[in-house]
Amino acid sequence: PSRQEVSYFGAGPAPLPTPVVEAAGQAFVNFNDSGLGLGEISHRSPTANKILDDAKANLSALLDIPDNYEILFMQAGGSGEFSAVVQNLVPVWIERRRRRAEADVVKANPDAEKAQVDELVFQRLQKEVDEELKLDYLVTGSWSLKASQEAARLVGSKYVNVALDARKANGGKFGTIPAEDTWSLTPTKAEGGKGSAFVYFCDNETVDGVEFQSFPKVLEAQGQDAEDERLVVADMSSNFISRKVDVSKYAVIFGGAQKNIGVTGITIAIVRKDLLPPQTATPPAALLHRLNIGGLPGPVVLDYATIAKNNSLYNTLPIFNLWVAGKVMADLMGVFGAQKVSGQEQIADQKSNLIYGALDKYPQVYRVVPDKSVRSRMNICFRVCGGDDAKEKEFIAGAEKRLLQGLKGHRSVGGMRASNYNAVPLENVQKLVQYLEDFASTQ
Ligand code: PLP
Repeated sequence: PSRQEVSYFGAGPAPLPTPVVEAAGQAFVNFNDSGLGLGEISHRSPTANKILDDAKANLSALLDIPDNYEILFMQAGGSGEFSAVVQNLVPVWIERRRRRAEADVVKANPDAEKAQVDELVFQRLQKEVDEELKLDYLVTGSWSLKASQEAARLVGSKYVNVALDARKANGGKFGTIPAEDTWSLTPTKAEGGKGSAFVYFCDNETVDGVEFQSFPKVLEAQGQDAEDERLVVADMSSNFISRKVDVSKYAVIFGGAQKNIGVTGITIAIVRKDLLPPQTATPPAALLHRLNIGGLPGPVVLDYATIAKNNSLYNTLPIFNLWVAGKVMADLMGVFGAQKVSGQEQIADQKSNLIYGALDKYPQVYRVVPDKSVRSRMNICFRVCGGDDAKEKEFIAGAEKRLLQGLKGHRSVGGMRASNYNAVPLENVQKLVQYLEDFASTQ
């Protein structure tokens, strides 16, 4: 079949907008009649710099990213960011504590030599790390689970506080987000506690079809000083640029490009600038070595400060992949203009409502897996005929005949999953809805 005849609902890598693919083919061969393709040019060339600047400008415009945020283009995917957030934010916590300890030690020992001060500071930090370092994770699906496991692998499970494991309230399965007052977040200073290094959640769980419907109220900014606040980290790999986001509520937002933004190979991190030097210095490597926290200091290519300082060009960035991401963003700005990402949000809502509407219409045939209150607009997970193996195979085979592809659920959970990313045209959703209707009528 031709590409246009196929409707692809894969969860990632995901479909790309046709005009982008066509332009990308040309750009790969000969970019803007320069005689060179984008896979061949230096990441330090003026052309590459312009592509980078444009991508940043368009992302900034689409999401209304405030000036006090840095946009970083990295590699290593969403999984790389699972490690990166730990590697970057635990040192922020240490550095804040180190400064406070140093001020206290100097005040109490005005005549002490530097070496003596450093030793006292180290001893206090060692105790604070041991007793107070906590990384809060809200585990609402397979990806936040993986992220929490990576944190535990790096720094040790003792420091990881799973503030919510959504499976516990749902018979061992993901599919709900229990009420906020049941979460056991580490209390902030304002709440009489010591605070955590950060709170992590996955905005849209790709495998389980669970999406936060809005920013959790309990994580709203609070407190009077930096140590009172909750630094919020969100994985938006599978719902990036699909709805309006108040970026100012987050310390870090990250996502791989391969779902809503482009092809695999580029990862975007949006990081609040005051978490980077010079406002928050990186603790000296020697101090981190001595504190002996697993995984710290980590690889330099995942170090936000280094990537920011080098305008994402610390090492070779895949410029072709960056161009694809930039083109997707530029085209969205072109289509939606002043509406920005809200324009895309309306379409995502419309498409997902059509699919859920068709599924809900035939409860004897289809069952949406996650609870209604947390349904993802991006990954629509459902079972056919109560999960009957033969019926589900029949459903897939019938879909394939109509060139509706990529509908099989993740291997870890089974069932069906229709991914409804930005590049899935309304027309393809309508074809799927027609198939859902037709299949149901034969049952
Ligand atoms: N986070 C989410 C929500 C995902 O859906 C995925 C991959 O599908 C990842 C993280 C991991 O991304 P990567 O494969 O780029 O490491």
